Amino acid sequence: MSILNQPVRQAIVLVGGKGTRLGALTSETPKPMLEVAPGLSFLDILIAEIARHGFDDIILLAGHLGHQIETRYKERQCLAANIRVISEPEPAGTGGALSRIRQLLDPVFLLMNGDSWFDINLRGFAVGLPLDALGKIALRPERDTARFGTVQLRNGRIESFSEKTADGRNGLISCGIYLLRRDLVSNLQSPSSLEMDAFPAIALQGRLCGEVYDNYFLDIGLPATFEEARSQLPRRRHRPAAFFDRDGVLNLDTGYAHRPADLRWMNNAEAAVRYLNDRGYFVFVVTNQAGVAKGLYDESAVVAFHNVMQQHLLERGAHIDAFYYCPYHSDALVPQYRISEHPDRKPAPGMILRAGREWPIIVESSFLIGDQKTDLEAATAAGLPGYHFDGSDLLGLVKAIIDVPKSVNLDCAGAI
Ligand SMILES: [Mg+2]
Repeated sequence: MSILNQPVRQAIVLVGGKGTRLGALTSETPKPMLEVAPGLSFLDILIAEIARHGFDDIILLAGHLGHQIETRYKERQCLAANIRVISEPEPAGTGGALSRIRQLLDPVFLLMNGDSWFDINLRGFAVGLPLDALGKIALRPERDTARFGTVQLRNGRIESFSEKTADGRNGLISCGIYLLRRDLVSNLQSPSSLEMDAFPAIALQGRLCGEVYDNYFLDIGLPATFEEARSQLPRRRHRPAAFFDRDGVLNLDTGYAHRPADLRWMNNAEAAVRYLNDRGYFVFVVTNQAGVAKGLYDESAVVAFHNVMQQHLLERGAHIDAFYYCPYHSDALVPQYRISEHPDRKPAPGMILRAGREWPIIVESSFLIGDQKTDLEAATAAGLPGYHFDGSDLLGLVKAIIDVPKSVNLDCAGAI
Protein backbone atom coordinates (compact mmCIF):
# COMPACT_ATOMS: atom_id res chain seq x y z
CA MET A 1 0.00 0.00 0.00
CA SER A 2 1.67 3.22 -1.02
CA ILE A 3 1.15 6.73 0.12
CA LEU A 4 1.20 10.09 -1.56
CA ASN A 5 4.46 11.96 -1.80
CA GLN A 6 3.34 15.23 -3.34
CA PRO A 7 2.07 17.46 -0.52
CA VAL A 8 -1.58 18.44 -0.73
CA ARG A 9 -1.81 22.21 -1.32
CA GLN A 10 -5.54 22.83 -1.74
CA ALA A 11 -8.14 23.27 1.00
CA ILE A 12 -11.83 23.78 0.24
CA VAL A 13 -14.03 25.20 3.00
CA LEU A 14 -17.81 24.77 2.86
CA VAL A 15 -19.26 28.08 4.02
CA GLY A 16 -22.64 28.03 2.27
CA GLY A 17 -24.91 26.62 5.00
CA LYS A 18 -27.91 28.56 6.26
CA GLY A 19 -27.34 28.05 9.98
CA THR A 20 -31.06 27.95 10.66
CA ARG A 21 -30.62 26.47 14.15
CA LEU A 22 -28.85 29.67 15.21
CA GLY A 23 -32.01 31.70 14.50
CA ALA A 24 -31.62 35.47 14.32
CA LEU A 25 -27.81 35.28 14.58
CA THR A 26 -27.52 34.00 11.02
CA SER A 27 -30.40 35.88 9.42
CA GLU A 28 -28.02 38.60 8.28
CA THR A 29 -24.59 36.97 8.70
CA PRO A 30 -23.26 33.69 7.25
CA LYS A 31 -22.63 31.29 10.14
CA PRO A 32 -18.83 31.04 9.62
CA MET A 33 -18.58 34.84 9.67
CA LEU A 34 -20.06 35.18 13.15
CA GLU A 35 -17.52 36.82 15.42
CA VAL A 36 -16.06 34.86 18.32
CA ALA A 37 -14.12 37.93 19.51
CA PRO A 38 -14.21 41.57 18.36
CA GLY A 39 -12.99 41.64 14.75
CA LEU A 40 -12.29 37.89 14.70
CA SER A 41 -14.72 35.61 12.89
CA PHE A 42 -14.92 31.85 13.26
CA LEU A 43 -13.79 31.59 9.63
CA ASP A 44 -10.74 33.78 10.34
CA ILE A 45 -9.60 31.11 12.79
CA LEU A 46 -10.17 28.26 10.34
CA ILE A 47 -8.32 30.08 7.55
CA ALA A 48 -5.37 30.86 9.82
CA GLU A 49 -5.18 27.20 10.85
CA ILE A 50 -5.29 25.98 7.25
CA ALA A 51 -2.66 28.48 6.09
CA ARG A 52 -0.17 27.80 8.86
CA HIS A 53 -0.27 24.09 8.00
CA GLY A 54 1.11 24.93 4.54
CA PHE A 55 -2.01 24.78 2.34
CA ASP A 56 -1.57 27.67 -0.08
CA ASP A 57 -4.72 27.43 -2.22
CA ILE A 58 -7.86 28.03 -0.17
CA ILE A 59 -11.27 28.00 -1.85
CA LEU A 60 -14.31 29.15 0.11
CA LEU A 61 -17.50 27.63 -1.30
CA ALA A 62 -20.17 30.18 -0.40
CA GLY A 63 -23.94 30.14 -0.69
CA HIS A 64 -26.26 31.81 1.84
CA LEU A 65 -25.29 35.52 2.01
CA GLY A 66 -22.25 34.65 -0.09
CA HIS A 67 -21.64 38.27 -1.10
CA GLN A 68 -20.52 38.95 2.49
CA ILE A 69 -17.94 36.18 2.26
CA GLU A 70 -16.78 37.60 -1.07
CA THR A 71 -16.51 41.13 0.28
CA ARG A 72 -14.41 40.08 3.21
CA TYR A 73 -12.21 37.30 1.80
CA LYS A 74 -12.06 37.52 -1.99
CA GLU A 75 -8.44 37.49 -3.20
CA ARG A 76 -7.16 37.98 0.30
CA GLN A 77 -3.97 36.30 1.45
CA CYS A 78 -3.18 34.56 4.69
CA LEU A 79 0.52 33.74 5.16
CA ALA A 80 1.44 32.08 1.83
CA ALA A 81 -2.15 31.08 1.01
CA ASN A 82 -4.28 32.73 -1.67
CA ILE A 83 -7.99 32.77 -0.97
CA ARG A 84 -10.66 32.39 -3.62
CA VAL A 85 -14.39 32.67 -3.04
CA ILE A 86 -16.89 30.85 -5.24
CA SER A 87 -20.59 31.42 -4.67
CA GLU A 88 -23.07 28.81 -5.84
CA PRO A 89 -26.07 30.16 -7.75
CA GLU A 90 -28.51 27.87 -5.91
CA PRO A 91 -28.10 25.28 -3.12
CA ALA A 92 -26.95 21.94 -4.51
CA GLY A 93 -25.82 20.12 -1.36
CA THR A 94 -22.20 19.40 -0.46
CA GLY A 95 -21.85 16.97 -3.37
CA GLY A 96 -23.40 19.32 -5.89
CA ALA A 97 -21.26 22.25 -4.74
CA LEU A 98 -18.07 20.22 -5.22
CA SER A 99 -19.20 18.78 -8.50
CA ARG A 100 -19.72 22.30 -9.85
CA ILE A 101 -16.07 23.25 -9.23
CA ARG A 102 -14.46 19.95 -10.25
CA GLN A 103 -12.39 21.68 -12.96
CA LEU A 104 -10.63 23.65 -10.22
CA LEU A 105 -9.82 20.70 -7.98
CA ASP A 106 -6.36 19.25 -7.41
CA PRO A 107 -5.99 15.44 -7.67
CA VAL A 108 -6.18 15.28 -3.85
CA PHE A 109 -7.58 18.07 -1.69
CA LEU A 110 -8.60 18.82 1.87
CA LEU A 111 -12.28 19.59 2.47
CA MET A 112 -13.54 21.20 5.66
CA ASN A 113 -16.88 22.23 7.05
CA GLY A 114 -16.86 25.96 7.75
CA ASP A 115 -18.91 25.67 10.92
CA SER A 116 -16.77 23.31 13.00
CA TRP A 117 -13.23 23.25 14.30
CA PHE A 118 -11.32 20.05 14.96
CA ASP A 119 -7.95 21.03 16.40
CA ILE A 120 -5.70 18.45 14.71
CA ASN A 121 -2.45 18.48 12.78
CA LEU A 122 -4.07 19.11 9.38
CA ARG A 123 -0.80 18.39 7.64
CA GLY A 124 -0.47 15.05 9.36
CA PHE A 125 -4.01 14.19 8.29
CA ALA A 126 -3.18 15.14 4.69
CA VAL A 127 -0.57 12.40 4.24
CA GLY A 128 -1.04 8.67 4.02
CA LEU A 129 -4.13 8.23 1.82
CA PRO A 130 -3.86 4.68 0.43
CA LEU A 131 -3.87 4.54 -3.38
CA ASP A 132 -7.02 2.43 -3.50
CA ALA A 133 -8.98 4.82 -1.24
CA LEU A 134 -11.10 7.69 -2.56
CA GLY A 135 -11.22 9.54 0.72
CA LYS A 136 -10.49 9.77 4.40
CA ILE A 137 -12.51 11.29 7.26
CA ALA A 138 -11.15 12.71 10.54
CA LEU A 139 -13.00 11.01 13.40
CA ARG A 140 -13.32 11.50 17.12
CA PRO A 141 -14.57 9.24 19.91
CA GLU A 142 -17.66 10.78 21.47
CA ARG A 143 -19.31 9.64 24.67
CA ASP A 144 -22.76 10.96 23.85
CA THR A 145 -23.57 10.69 20.15
CA ALA A 146 -27.23 11.79 20.40
CA ARG A 147 -26.46 14.88 18.28
CA PHE A 148 -24.35 13.05 15.72
CA GLY A 149 -24.46 10.09 13.39
CA THR A 150 -21.71 7.55 14.04
CA VAL A 151 -19.15 5.72 11.96
CA GLN A 152 -18.12 2.07 12.14
CA LEU A 153 -14.38 1.70 11.58
CA ARG A 154 -12.33 -1.46 11.14
CA ASN A 155 -8.59 -1.53 10.40
CA GLY A 156 -8.61 2.10 9.33
CA ARG A 157 -11.49 1.62 6.85
CA ILE A 158 -15.01 2.94 7.38
CA GLU A 159 -17.49 0.09 7.01
CA SER A 160 -20.77 1.91 7.53
CA PHE A 161 -22.58 4.93 8.95
CA SER A 162 -25.40 5.03 11.49
CA GLU A 163 -28.03 7.72 11.81
CA LYS A 164 -28.17 9.65 15.07
CA THR A 165 -30.19 7.91 17.75
CA ALA A 166 -31.91 9.40 20.76
CA ASP A 167 -30.15 7.15 23.29
CA GLY A 168 -26.71 8.64 22.58
CA ARG A 169 -24.16 5.85 22.97
CA ASN A 170 -20.39 5.85 22.69
CA GLY A 171 -19.19 6.03 19.13
CA LEU A 172 -16.95 7.62 16.52
CA ILE A 173 -18.24 10.79 14.91
CA SER A 174 -17.15 12.58 11.76
CA CYS A 175 -15.62 15.95 12.58
CA GLY A 176 -16.05 17.67 9.24
CA ILE A 177 -12.51 17.33 7.84
CA TYR A 178 -11.97 15.17 4.76
CA LEU A 179 -9.13 14.27 2.43
CA LEU A 180 -10.63 13.46 -0.96
CA ARG A 181 -9.56 12.44 -4.43
CA ARG A 182 -10.91 14.39 -7.37
CA ASP A 183 -11.94 11.00 -8.84
CA LEU A 184 -14.63 10.81 -6.17
CA VAL A 185 -16.10 14.12 -7.31
CA SER A 186 -16.33 13.00 -10.94
CA ASN A 187 -19.19 10.68 -10.03
CA LEU A 188 -21.17 13.10 -7.87
CA GLN A 189 -24.64 14.22 -8.92
CA SER A 190 -25.96 17.72 -8.46
CA PRO A 191 -27.70 18.18 -6.12
CA SER A 192 -26.35 15.52 -3.76
CA SER A 193 -24.92 15.13 -0.30
CA LEU A 194 -21.42 13.80 0.34
CA GLU A 195 -22.41 12.52 3.77
CA MET A 196 -25.73 10.91 2.79
CA ASP A 197 -24.99 9.72 -0.76
CA ALA A 198 -21.30 9.52 -1.68
CA PHE A 199 -19.62 8.38 1.54
CA PRO A 200 -21.91 5.43 2.34
CA ALA A 201 -21.51 4.19 -1.25
CA ILE A 202 -17.69 4.25 -1.27
CA ALA A 203 -17.58 2.87 2.28
CA LEU A 204 -19.43 -0.18 0.97
CA GLN A 205 -16.66 -0.61 -1.58
CA GLY A 206 -14.03 -0.42 1.18
CA ARG A 207 -12.60 2.77 -0.34
CA LEU A 208 -13.18 5.20 2.54
CA CYS A 209 -10.66 5.50 5.39
CA GLY A 210 -11.01 7.00 8.85
CA GLU A 211 -8.38 8.44 11.18
CA VAL A 212 -9.18 8.85 14.87
CA TYR A 213 -8.00 11.81 16.97
CA ASP A 214 -9.02 12.61 20.50
CA ASN A 215 -8.56 16.37 20.04
CA TYR A 216 -10.70 19.41 20.83
CA PHE A 217 -13.80 19.62 18.63
CA LEU A 218 -16.47 22.27 18.40
CA ASP A 219 -19.39 22.63 16.02
CA ILE A 220 -20.98 26.10 16.17
CA GLY A 221 -24.37 24.95 14.88
CA LEU A 222 -26.34 25.48 18.09
CA PRO A 223 -26.78 28.60 20.21
CA ALA A 224 -25.11 26.85 23.17
CA THR A 225 -22.12 25.63 21.15
CA PHE A 226 -21.74 29.03 19.51
CA GLU A 227 -21.58 30.54 22.98
CA GLU A 228 -18.88 27.97 23.81
CA ALA A 229 -16.99 29.14 20.73
CA ARG A 230 -17.10 32.71 21.98
CA SER A 231 -15.81 31.77 25.40
CA GLN A 232 -13.26 29.12 24.34
CA LEU A 233 -11.82 29.84 20.91
CA PRO A 234 -10.00 33.13 21.51
CA ARG A 235 -8.09 31.31 24.26
CA ARG A 236 -7.65 28.04 22.37
CA ARG A 237 -5.88 29.82 19.51
CA HIS A 238 -3.02 30.32 21.94
CA ARG A 239 -0.41 27.59 21.89
CA PRO A 240 3.00 26.87 23.32
CA ALA A 241 5.86 27.32 20.87
CA ALA A 242 9.06 25.44 20.16
CA PHE A 243 11.85 27.63 18.78
CA PHE A 244 14.66 25.88 16.90
CA ASP A 245 18.01 27.22 15.93
CA ARG A 246 18.59 25.95 12.39
CA ASP A 247 22.17 24.92 11.50
CA GLY A 248 23.38 22.16 13.79
CA VAL A 249 19.90 21.53 15.20
CA LEU A 250 17.47 20.88 12.33
CA ASN A 251 20.03 20.51 9.56
CA LEU A 252 23.69 19.55 9.61
CA ASP A 253 25.89 22.63 10.01
CA THR A 254 27.97 22.38 6.83
CA GLY A 255 29.21 25.97 7.18
CA TYR A 256 26.92 28.60 5.67
CA ALA A 257 24.44 26.05 4.33
CA HIS A 258 22.34 27.78 1.68
CA ARG A 259 22.06 25.61 -1.45
CA PRO A 260 19.22 23.06 -1.50
CA ALA A 261 21.92 20.39 -1.93
CA ASP A 262 23.41 21.50 1.42
CA LEU A 263 20.31 20.32 3.27
CA ARG A 264 21.05 17.25 5.37
CA TRP A 265 18.62 16.75 8.23
CA MET A 266 19.93 16.03 11.70
CA ASN A 267 18.95 12.73 13.28
CA ASN A 268 15.17 12.59 13.87
CA ALA A 269 14.78 16.31 13.15
CA GLU A 270 11.74 15.97 10.87
CA ALA A 271 10.15 13.53 13.33
CA ALA A 272 10.74 16.04 16.15
CA VAL A 273 8.86 18.76 14.24
CA ARG A 274 6.02 16.33 13.47
CA TYR A 275 5.86 15.32 17.14
CA LEU A 276 5.39 18.95 18.15
CA ASN A 277 2.84 19.60 15.37
CA ASP A 278 0.82 16.57 16.52
CA ARG A 279 0.74 17.95 20.05
CA GLY A 280 -0.48 21.41 19.07
CA TYR A 281 2.78 23.37 19.42
CA PHE A 282 3.75 26.19 17.12
CA VAL A 283 7.19 25.51 15.64
CA PHE A 284 9.51 28.37 14.65
CA VAL A 285 13.02 28.61 13.26
CA VAL A 286 15.24 31.43 14.53
CA THR A 287 18.54 31.53 12.67
CA ASN A 288 21.48 33.93 12.31
CA GLN A 289 22.44 34.13 8.64
CA ALA A 290 25.63 36.16 8.61
CA GLY A 291 26.46 34.59 5.23
CA VAL A 292 24.16 37.21 3.72
CA ALA A 293 26.09 40.05 5.39
CA LYS A 294 29.35 38.49 4.24
CA GLY A 295 28.15 38.38 0.61
CA LEU A 296 28.28 34.57 0.39
CA TYR A 297 24.62 34.34 -0.70
CA ASP A 298 21.61 36.62 -0.71
CA GLU A 299 18.34 36.64 1.19
CA SER A 300 16.51 34.93 -1.66
CA ALA A 301 18.83 31.92 -1.16
CA VAL A 302 17.88 31.82 2.54
CA VAL A 303 14.18 31.88 1.66
CA ALA A 304 14.64 29.22 -1.03
CA PHE A 305 16.50 26.98 1.45
CA HIS A 306 13.66 27.35 3.93
CA ASN A 307 11.14 26.51 1.22
CA VAL A 308 12.98 23.26 0.54
CA MET A 309 13.00 22.44 4.25
CA GLN A 310 9.28 23.14 4.44
CA GLN A 311 8.60 20.97 1.38
CA HIS A 312 10.41 18.02 2.98
CA LEU A 313 8.43 18.51 6.17
CA LEU A 314 5.06 18.77 4.40
CA GLU A 315 5.73 15.43 2.72
CA ARG A 316 6.10 13.94 6.18
CA GLY A 317 2.99 15.46 7.71
CA ALA A 318 4.90 18.22 9.49
CA HIS A 319 5.43 21.94 9.07
CA ILE A 320 7.26 25.00 10.43
CA ASP A 321 4.87 27.87 11.23
CA ALA A 322 7.41 30.60 10.43
CA PHE A 323 11.11 30.99 9.66
CA TYR A 324 12.86 34.01 11.21
CA TYR A 325 16.39 34.84 10.08
CA CYS A 326 18.84 37.64 10.81
CA PRO A 327 21.06 38.66 7.86
CA TYR A 328 22.94 41.41 9.79
CA HIS A 329 26.47 41.36 11.14
CA SER A 330 28.86 43.97 12.52
CA ASP A 331 31.62 42.94 10.05
CA ALA A 332 29.38 42.78 7.00
CA LEU A 333 30.99 43.15 3.59
CA VAL A 334 27.61 44.11 2.15
CA PRO A 335 27.03 47.64 3.53
CA GLN A 336 23.26 47.39 3.92
CA TYR A 337 23.71 44.49 6.37
CA ARG A 338 26.47 46.12 8.45
CA ILE A 339 24.84 46.77 11.81
CA SER A 340 26.57 46.03 15.08
CA GLU A 341 24.50 44.41 17.78
CA HIS A 342 21.36 44.15 15.69
CA PRO A 343 18.43 43.32 18.00
CA ASP A 344 17.61 40.25 15.90
CA ARG A 345 21.08 38.73 15.94
CA LYS A 346 21.41 36.09 18.63
CA PRO A 347 22.35 36.29 21.48
CA ALA A 348 19.82 39.18 21.26
CA PRO A 349 16.21 37.93 21.48
CA GLY A 350 14.68 40.05 18.66
CA MET A 351 13.49 37.18 16.46
CA ILE A 352 11.84 35.36 19.36
CA LEU A 353 10.17 38.55 20.57
CA ARG A 354 8.89 39.29 17.06
CA ALA A 355 7.32 35.82 16.88
CA GLY A 356 5.69 36.63 20.22
CA ARG A 357 4.08 39.72 18.69
CA GLU A 358 3.02 37.98 15.48
CA TRP A 359 1.61 34.72 16.88
CA PRO A 360 -0.66 33.86 19.85
CA ILE A 361 2.02 32.12 21.91
CA ILE A 362 1.71 30.77 25.46
CA VAL A 363 5.10 31.89 26.75
CA GLU A 364 4.95 29.84 29.96
CA SER A 365 5.17 26.50 28.15
CA SER A 366 7.41 27.54 25.25
CA PHE A 367 11.11 26.74 24.87
CA LEU A 368 14.10 26.94 22.54
CA ILE A 369 16.59 24.32 21.38
CA GLY A 370 20.02 25.40 20.11
CA ASP A 371 23.54 24.08 19.69
CA GLN A 372 25.41 27.30 20.59
CA LYS A 373 25.75 29.35 23.73
CA THR A 374 24.33 32.35 21.85
CA ASP A 375 21.09 30.43 21.16
CA LEU A 376 20.60 29.72 24.84
CA GLU A 377 21.44 33.32 25.76
CA ALA A 378 18.78 34.55 23.31
CA ALA A 379 16.24 32.22 24.94
CA THR A 380 17.10 33.50 28.39
CA ALA A 381 16.84 37.11 27.22
CA ALA A 382 13.38 36.34 25.82
CA GLY A 383 12.30 34.70 29.08
CA LEU A 384 12.24 31.14 27.74
CA PRO A 385 14.04 28.00 28.85
CA GLY A 386 16.78 27.09 26.37
CA TYR A 387 18.00 23.51 25.89
CA HIS A 388 21.32 22.51 24.41
CA PHE A 389 21.22 19.95 21.57
CA ASP A 390 24.28 17.71 21.41
CA GLY A 391 23.54 16.53 17.87
CA SER A 392 22.43 13.01 18.78
CA ASP A 393 18.62 12.65 18.69
CA LEU A 394 16.39 15.69 18.32
CA LEU A 395 13.14 13.78 18.82
CA GLY A 396 14.48 12.27 22.02
CA LEU A 397 15.33 15.74 23.33
CA VAL A 398 11.91 17.14 22.41
CA LYS A 399 10.18 14.24 24.15
CA ALA A 400 12.34 14.76 27.23
CA ILE A 401 11.31 18.42 27.32
CA ILE A 402 7.56 18.18 26.72
CA ASP A 403 6.63 14.72 28.00
CA VAL A 404 8.17 14.82 31.46
CA PRO A 405 6.65 16.52 34.49
CA LYS A 406 8.08 20.00 34.96
CA SER A 407 9.63 19.02 38.30
CA VAL A 408 12.21 16.82 36.55
CA ASN A 409 15.41 18.78 36.23
CA LEU A 410 16.64 18.91 32.64
CA ASP A 411 19.83 20.56 31.51
CA CYS A 412 18.18 23.89 30.96
CA ALA A 413 20.03 27.16 30.45
CA GLY A 414 17.41 29.57 31.66
CA ALA A 415 13.89 29.62 32.97
CA ILE A 416 11.07 32.08 33.03
MG1 LIG B 1 23.46 26.40 15.24
